[in-house]
Amino acid sequence: MNLPDQISHLWTQVLGLIANVVSPDWGSLVGLLPIFLLIGVIGPLITILALLWFYYFVRRPRTKVRFAEGPRLAAIAGDGLPLFPAGEPYDPRTGLIYLPGTTQNDAGERLSVTCPMCGIARFADAATCHNCGLVLKVDRRVALRTLQPAGPPPGGAAAA
Ligand SMILES: [Zn+2]
Repeated sequence: MNLPDQISHLWTQVLGLIANVVSPDWGSLVGLLPIFLLIGVIGPLITILALLWFYYFVRRPRTKVRFAEGPRLAAIAGDGLPLFPAGEPYDPRTGLIYLPGTTQNDAGERLSVTCPMCGIARFADAATCHNCGLVLKVDRRVALRTLQPAGPPPGGAAAA
């Protein structure tokens, strides 16, 4: 056996080896094709749809509730007392913070507001601070608009 014959023989062996490894049982693979299709195509599609659903139906209403609807519960400070942001009406009894411009709670009781200038609490229906004289008058519609997240108004173009 000379050298080219040896190489040729070796090459044939290598090819046979590769064929054993590479050429699979096509019949069983075709049978598995629907499963590959399911994993490779339908799986990602379902994932994308689930993410879209999560974004539109879980995330959006939550931000809407937080910005467009009140009241919300005040955060509790380290001393155990609720923290009421200055200039926003609140109910000291329930610890709820109402939207700017609100003067009464659902039961018709007067809400309080902390003066943003001097920090003295007063009733929310009094526009002028009795302590420092700051006039705090909020147009409720303007407040609602500025508190809403950026984007098209609810109801789409018809409501604009
Ligand atoms: Zn004041």
